[in-house]
Amino acid sequence: MKHRVANGYKAFYNMVQKCKGANLSSWKLKNQLFKSLVRPIVLYGVQVWGPTTSQSNWNKVEAIQKLFLEMELGVKTQTPYTLLLVEAGLLPLEVEALYHTLQYVMRVKALQDSRLPKQALYASRAFGWYADVCRWAKTWDLCEHEWDTQPKKLRALLHSKAIRKLWHNPSPRLQYFMRDVNPMVLFEEQEYLGAPISVKLRHIIARYRLSSHHLEVEEGRWKGVKRQDRVCTLCDSGSIENEYHVFIGCRWYQDIRVAHQILVSDLHDLFRLPPKQLGLYIMAIDRK
Ligand SMILES: [Zn+2]
Repeated sequence: MKHRVANGYKAFYNMVQKCKGANLSSWKLKNQLFKSLVRPIVLYGVQVWGPTTSQSNWNKVEAIQKLFLEMELGVKTQTPYTLLLVEAGLLPLEVEALYHTLQYVMRVKALQDSRLPKQALYASRAFGWYADVCRWAKTWDLCEHEWDTQPKKLRALLHSKAIRKLWHNPSPRLQYFMRDVNPMVLFEEQEYLGAPISVKLRHIIARYRLSSHHLEVEEGRWKGVKRQDRVCTLCDSGSIENEYHVFIGCRWYQDIRVAHQILVSDLHDLFRLPPKQLGLYIMAIDRK
């Protein structure tokens, strides 16, 4: 396992270097490269080691994908992994690992009873590899009778279970995100990631969508300021300086709002503006 993680980082930094050398910054392309160059290295042989890997070791595996997303979105390392995944429409590497493992099980099950792999599989049902796989699948709320023989159906089922698990019991930050930023009608990557805008604009949009910014509502949290005291110092409204206040409410930014033709009245609509218009508006406010 340790070996896999080390090799995963190696493959990842290799990819980063190559992209830099070739001046590649497109999210879509990098996401493809991560999936085809890094992920298979990390998950190599996962059918063997995955079923008995502990949660803390899975966290070490996920850290590679988390680092990738942090770099692509340009956000702080404190940004919750779930937020990053939802923004990019990706799932934990563990889910991909479980998918490959279950697919392997279904392939073996389809063999004739006389075949050795099938006999070995059933021999480990009460205690051993097969039992471990069942336990692992259960942690993602997937019972054995639900495993589908069709890869597509199996993947779809696993995805829906994983999404439900990720959204279960959301933290206040996640609740805010779900309410005001992304009500998540569909679990897919956000449009701005693939839009023809500069990396700078992509990063600044991501920072404000994912609360990885320097507004008082976040800064105050780190400084230990009470929530009601994290107010805007640019106007006299006494409002908390949060995303809604600076982008929509605060009078101080009215001229910028007019210049950028921003006519929205809630955050949800703001974040649905065309990526370029949104990015330039956020940048104008961020610099002030
Ligand atoms: Zn204000």
